[in-house]
Amino acid sequence: MSDCIFCKIVVGDIRADVVYSDDQVVAFRDINPQAPVHVLVVPRRHMESIFDLEEGDGDLLWAVFRAIREVAEREGIAERGVRVVTNVREEAGQSVFHLHFHVLGGRRMAWPPG
Ligand code: AMP
Repeated sequence: MSDCIFCKIVVGDIRADVVYSDDQVVAFRDINPQAPVHVLVVPRRHMESIFDLEEGDGDLLWAVFRAIREVAEREGIAERGVRVVTNVREEAGQSVFHLHFHVLGGRRMAWPPG
């Protein structure tokens, strides 16, 4: 989508601190980190949220979760613990309407989330 900030990061029109990419997924550091490690894993294809996934998206989902694990390993948090979050719609805290998974770690997490 032409006005989507994450689509612009995916194609390189907006700079980001990219830590992983493959043919389906890009992962980059969150500009406003909430933990020592805070990376966003984003499918290259635009969709608003997990609610837009379809039956044929199994390969894409595998690529996303493979990337999440790869990022966690590269960032050195895979063994300690990782929180993976996706916010769906505004009341849940979604502010960028291109599907993304927050990968957080490097500190002890609280529950319930705020
Ligand atoms: P959410 O609020 O769940 O939609 O998450 C959106 C995240 O995108 C927030 O944590 C923002 O800090 C982050 N964000 C927004 N713009 C950028 C950007 N240009 N580069 C990196 N992260 C961004």
